[in-house]
Amino acid sequence: MSELVIKNLHVSIENKEILKGVDLMIKQGEIHAIMGPNGTGKSTLAYTLMGHPSYTVTGGEIWFKGKNLLELATDERSRLGLFLAFQYPVAIPGVTVANFLRSAVNSRRHVVNPEDKGVPILEFRKMLKEKMELLRMDSAFAGRYLNDGFSGGEKKRAEILQMATLKPEIAILDETDSGLDIDALRIVAEGVNALSGPELGVLVITHYQRLLNYIKPRFVHIMLGGKIVESGGPDLALQLEERGYDWVREKYEEAPA
Ligand code: ADP
Ligand code: MG
Repeated sequence: MSELVIKNLHVSIENKEILKGVDLMIKQGEIHAIMGPNGTGKSTLAYTLMGHPSYTVTGGEIWFKGKNLLELATDERSRLGLFLAFQYPVAIPGVTVANFLRSAVNSRRHVVNPEDKGVPILEFRKMLKEKMELLRMDSAFAGRYLNDGFSGGEKKRAEILQMATLKPEIAILDETDSGLDIDALRIVAEGVNALSGPELGVLVITHYQRLLNYIKPRFVHIMLGGKIVESGGPDLALQLEERGYDWVREKYEEAPA
């Protein structure tokens, strides 16, 4: 069974420490949520897992399938079975969603078997059609150029479809930056609900308190000040929904000295 293990992770941006000792373990088949107010380091964790060059790991470890993730380039992480949203932040004119997904699937197959000649086109089309039906997506979406004029919601749909076709073992899904939180979370949640099962581990990252209206994670973590300060079950998300984040802040944030 695949697992992602994060131990005492410290991360800085431009010499400012953002993550201050994060511990987390996610196994295939488990759904986790990290919740927390804005600016607490949630996206920093997602970008660090992705290997974004602006984020410097100053301490701690990340292991995935027994490999030291920090020694792997972003695309190696992805081909190993870790899925990270934002893998294609730019529009790619002339490359359709379907073609992009097919080449991503092929590069993953190649890692599993270097002799692999790529997924036959008809087999790929059939698989893509099945996934799009499962996710209740309009088939025309596969023919659009990737991210070209995509709305925030369509970018999320493309991410979820990529997750469905790549079949990662662990997926990290961070919310978009602003504006359409609820819409984006709904798209992500519907996708995760449709795809979840023993083969897929998911970490959903959001600041949205009413998470449970959309998704039912087995594990809920609260991040505050660059650390996971509370971990529990869905009851923890329920508490956030009822009481907001203030009680967490009061419990963990010291008064400024
Ligand atoms: P969250 O996703 O929880 O809202 P982030 O991880 O985006 O939080 O940000 C955590 C902290 O890191 C914030 O104080 C933010 O201002 C800072 N930060 C994030 N990205 C950068 C960056 N590129 N340069 C400088 N500071 C950053
Ligand atoms: Mg964020």
